Amino acid sequence: MNKKYSIVIHGGAGTLVKGLMTPEKEEQYKAALNEALEKGYTVLENNGSAMEAVETAVKHLEDSPLFNAGKGSVFTNDGTHEMDAAIMDGKTLDAGAVSLITGIKNPISLARDIMEKTDHVFLAGEGAMRFAKSVGYTIESPEYFYDEHRFQQWQNIKDSDTFQLDHSMKKEGKFGTVGAVACDKNGNIAAATSTGGMTNKRWGRVGDSPMVGAGTYANNKTCAVSCTGSGEFFIRGVVAYDVSCLMEYKGMNLEAAASEVINKRVLSIGGDGGLIAVDAKGNIAMPFNTEGMYRAFKTSDGKREISIYKD
Ligand code: ASP
Repeated sequence: MNKKYSIVIHGGAGTLVKGLMTPEKEEQYKAALNEALEKGYTVLENNGSAMEAVETAVKHLEDSPLFNAGKGSVFTNDGTHEMDAAIMDGKTLDAGAVSLITGIKNPISLARDIMEKTDHVFLAGEGAMRFAKSVGYTIESPEYFYDEHRFQQWQNIKDSDTFQLDHSMKKEGKFGTVGAVACDKNGNIAAATSTGGMTNKRWGRVGDSPMVGAGTYANNKTCAVSCTGSGEFFIRGVVAYDVSCLMEYKGMNLEAAASEVINKRVLSIGGDGGLIAVDAKGNIAMPFNTEGMYRAFKTSDGKREISIYKD
């Protein structure tokens, strides 16, 4: 049995500059991260799998209106909410992903159901909704996802061609795609990511989050990764898999590989954001090239941190 186990979560990266958010708001974010972290960690502590831990943590973040996933999802150009999610098991390389879905409270669970209950990896749009209904999901009304702040974000840009990262605003706001990675007591690792995408997105835009290899990846041989940031660049950089490749083919350790990708490779093509990662020994990494990233980790050797800003 692996001695060390660990979990890392994120709630999005972006223009999170100290002093722009009220202390009360900051506390709310930290409390939400803390709850999700503890929920996921408890699963690991009780001999649960990394898959179970990441799904549990992400579900909790999806249920919070603070983050751009599930309940807090941003508005599309059509005034709807279209969500993406993916989950991957590093032990088997099984994966499930879903995109362009509406009305689903916990897209991450739907991604897992696609992995476990179909022969497919990735379902999108109407077909994904039909599958969801066939396995018993209830469809929430648009009111469940309505949030005044997100509505205003969208109103500000809806008549333009602009689409924007939820967390790239120079004012107090609600940020964040969410994700979790974990290493369990057996040394199995997993990754999960869930998002509402970018405000004012249109034409069925899909980001990196649900794409295996771009925003989400897990392989026991190397690492489990969940990304957040400007999805177009993360897709082109095949970011999550790139971290894995640097470890597998170049022999880099987790921290060096994760930092190389975020601080050099994705930055060199113009991408801003960050990622969280674990390896099968329970080591963790959380690099980001933006001002901040909502993040938290806990390891069985007693280390724990919840932070937002760079230092
Ligand atoms: N990466 C996500 C996307 O492009 C956005 C984010 O991380 O907030 O859909």
